[in-house]
Amino acid sequence: MIFRNDVALSRVTTIGTGGLARAYAEPRTIVELEHTLRSAREQGLDVATVGLGSNLLAADAGVDMLVLRLADELAEARTEGTVLVAGGGATNAVCLHRARAAALGGFEFACAIPGTAGGGVWMNAGAYGSDWSAIVKRALVATADGTGWLTPAELGFSYRHSILRHGQVVAAVEYQLVPSGTDEIRARVRDLVNRRKATQPTTKRTFGSVFKNPPGEVGAGQMLELCGLKGYRHGGAVISSRHANFIENAGGATTADCLALMAEARRRAREAFGVELEHEVVLLR
Ligand SMILES: Cc1cc2nc3c(=O)[nH]c(=O)nc-3n(C[C@H](O)[C@H](O)[C@H](O)COP(=O)(O)OP(=O)(O)OC[C@H]3O[C@@H](n4cnc5c(N)ncnc54)[C@H](O)[C@@H]3O)c2cc1C
Repeated sequence: MIFRNDVALSRVTTIGTGGLARAYAEPRTIVELEHTLRSAREQGLDVATVGLGSNLLAADAGVDMLVLRLADELAEARTEGTVLVAGGGATNAVCLHRARAAALGGFEFACAIPGTAGGGVWMNAGAYGSDWSAIVKRALVATADGTGWLTPAELGFSYRHSILRHGQVVAAVEYQLVPSGTDEIRARVRDLVNRRKATQPTTKRTFGSVFKNPPGEVGAGQMLELCGLKGYRHGGAVISSRHANFIENAGGATTADCLALMAEARRRAREAFGVELEHEVVLLR
């Protein structure tokens, strides 16, 4: 199989940084995906999958991997009774739309998370007291060795974490939802989106939360704000003056700029609070 080698990852990450992928493909069906994974193994290529790139930082010098983005059939969503069946590349927006059309609730918490079903599983993404682990019934995971369904226990969910590793591709996800009035769903979504707009830089290019919240009362954003880092800039990247756990691309940012800000933020949090902040964002090299 021949892969593309002209795809800049700045085009597939929400922060808009990152160099070329060594190889790139957009499998459209499970058969194509399995074939792609076997072909990558034959060519000695490591594989990483991207969703909307909304929690990703890719190296400026490029990524020495086959980067996959799931398309067509692997990015669709439909309901079957109270189960929402989503392709790994289906966006949360599409899933929410399908759920609401079928009067199914439980997915509203994801309304302001700009990712895909696969990215949500990998990250155990969450907001407003819920996360993927609360609604995933099972996930179809493809590797070069074969494809099979994994249960939530097998996915090893914990705070913003699953046990998935590159080379394991979430091809589909089944969400267990609950019957709910469509007006109630709309009202919940409206409320959550308004809360989000009031506190986060929703109109800027970011990659979501930079760091996981450390255990304890003080969140990462509050800690970095207390360190005086709001508005702190390196090159084209700036720590958001809206929410200090976000880095914005203020124009011409590079991944190196973001990493420099992250190193400074970790150093200041260590000095001021004795806390080692852990990256939430995934680094692709
Ligand atoms: C404005 C903004 C707000 C955000 N708010 C939140 C929030 O409230 N809560 C939250 O948890 N996150 C939040 N995020 C971060 C991000 O949206 C989530 O982590 C999201 O789930 C990532 O999904 P994605 O499809 O974009 O994954 P990507 O960012 O593309 O990838 C993230 C990881 O998942 C892996 N991956 C992606 N797709 C697959 C797949 N099909 N199979 C296997 N691995 C895969 C990637 O390899 C990578 O390791 C926010 C981001 C932004 C930009």
